[in-house]
Formats: sequence, C-alpha cells, structure tokens
Amino acid sequence: MDPVPCPGCDTFFVPRNKLQIFCSTPGCQKIRKALWQKQKLDTDPDYKKDQHLAQQKWLYSNPDYWKNYRRNNPEKAQRNRALQRIRNQKKQSVKTIGIAKMDARKSFNQSILGQFWLVPTIAKMDPVKIFIAKAAGRSP
Ligand SMILES: [Zn+2]
Repeated sequence: MDPVPCPGCDTFFVPRNKLQIFCSTPGCQKIRKALWQKQKLDTDPDYKKDQHLAQQKWLYSNPDYWKNYRRNNPEKAQRNRALQRIRNQKKQSVKTIGIAKMDARKSFNQSILGQFWLVPTIAKMDPVKIFIAKAAGRSP
C-alpha cells in the first residue's frame, strides 16, 4: 500500500488497511480518538448520556478537582472566566438585539496594550490569544 499523509502530524506513513487515516503514534491516536468521541457524542444520545453519568460519578468521587485545577492553573482559570463572561454577554445580546450589531463599535482614543482573546461571535472557531506590545501607527 502506498504511503499516505497523516492529518495529525503531516508525515507520510503506510496504512495497515484502507480505513486507517491516522498514523500509529500515540499523539495521532489521541487525536483520532478525540475526533471519534466528538462525532459519537454528537450522533449517539445514549453514549452522550452514559458519558455524562460517568463524568458525574467521577466528579462525585473527586469533589475538589476543579477547585484544585483553578488554583494550580490561574491563567487558565482567568481565561475561562473571561470567555464565560463573553459567552454570557453574547447570550444576552442575541436575546435582545440579534447577531448583527454593526453600529455599536466605538473607536478608542487611548492606546490599547496587553493580552487579549479574540473570540469569534458567529463562526464556530477557537478563540485566539493575541499580544499587543505597542500601538500601531496612527495618522493624526
Ligand atoms: Zn501522525
């Protein structure tokens, strides 16, 4: 069988059969399983319910997990709070104004520096973290 590119690591490998898409490295198998599970959760309500029950059971026996996670990963906790605030605002704005809000943008006179999360509001994409070191050149 001819080598094919692996979508997980972009290297060529020889598949064992026609159905094998990912190579056998642990990282790519992890990606393959995550994709399978996402597809299964979207299409199989029984599987989704069983996974939810298993997670609830696990959380019941590990009640301090999220508290410890937030304490050990303060940057991720802060990021999640910011993203949740945005999700709450989006939920609120969709209820009141709809999805198009073109005239609400105001320009800022002060320079904006720091780290920000760019969160797509309509398209389903992952948020992107950006860092603005200095203000871009402005014409007076
Ligand atoms: Zn691979």
